[in-house]
Amino acid sequence: MVVSRTQKNLNIVLCLIENLNANVADNLYGQSEAYMEEREDEDILRYFNKRIHHVVFPKDGVKNPTNTKEICSICLGKFKHEETIGKIGCEHEYHACCIRKWLLRKKNCPIWRASVSPFP
Ligand SMILES: [Zn+2]
Ligand SMILES: [Zn+2]
Repeated sequence: MVVSRTQKNLNIVLCLIENLNANVADNLYGQSEAYMEEREDEDILRYFNKRIHHVVFPKDGVKNPTNTKEICSICLGKFKHEETIGKIGCEHEYHACCIRKWLLRKKNCPIWRASVSPFP
């Protein structure tokens, strides 16, 4: 089957429009959204210090990574081995993802409601 010249050109044009639309959509939504998220992250990261939680294993060699006394007061879940923990100015600690979400809504401590200041 021979594809006519017009048909071929039309296909090229359609293809170009498709690519153009994809680029415009990327610029309008994809990039700006990612940019906003990044800015938000940078700002919120100043409010807590991150650390990786390490559960101290018992000396008898029994591994029980969930055995920890520290609890996140936001989700009431225990700090698990190698989870990222965020400590705010008043020394209270939470899961980094929990405190991040919390601080995006209000800048206070989930435990005693005192306002949280960013680290210098
Ligand atoms: Zn949590
Ligand atoms: Zn606190």
